Amino acid sequence: MKTGVYPGSFDPITYGHIDIVKRALKVFDKLIVLVSTNPHKKTLFSKEERIDMIRHALSGCMDHVEIETNNTLTVHRAKELGATHIVRGLRALTDFEYEFQMTHANRVLDKGIDSVFFMTDNRFSYLSSTTLKEIAQFNGDMETFAPPYVVEKIRAKYE
Ligand code: ADP
Repeated sequence: MKTGVYPGSFDPITYGHIDIVKRALKVFDKLIVLVSTNPHKKTLFSKEERIDMIRHALSGCMDHVEIETNNTLTVHRAKELGATHIVRGLRALTDFEYEFQMTHANRVLDKGIDSVFFMTDNRFSYLSSTTLKEIAQFNGDMETFAPPYVVEKIRAKYE
């Protein structure tokens, strides 16, 4: 069984993340969404809230998806969870630079865990959780960026 981990903050999950999960599930039997819980990184949503939104957003594919948390190095957690690959999404060249560094650092840390990248659908190439939160702050239309349940939760935060 091929298992991948998909690490990120998911603060909150967007259609961009969901697109990457769906692409990865065509390659992996199981995908573990790894929610980072770095205490030094300030998030709008708590770990529990982020997991709850991920669970709702991925309710159609939970047979092949697991959600776990991570507060250590991704390669260490990936190994612990029995995964062989780290899955990441690429939106633009700006993502590439960072991912390039991370991939090489991860290889030095553990040669046994490789990274794979999926390019986002055009529709989501400009989309990030940060953009979504900015739109929310100014009461913009969020429906094309995240599922209704997530939109509801963001609205509640800024009310
Ligand atoms: P991080 O804090 O690690 O950047 P994110 O939750 O922002 O966590 O992103 C997790 C992963 O999802 C990263 O690989 C990121 O490039 C990818 N990602 C985020 N938004 C999109 C999108 N709109 N399309 C494709 N990939 C995306």
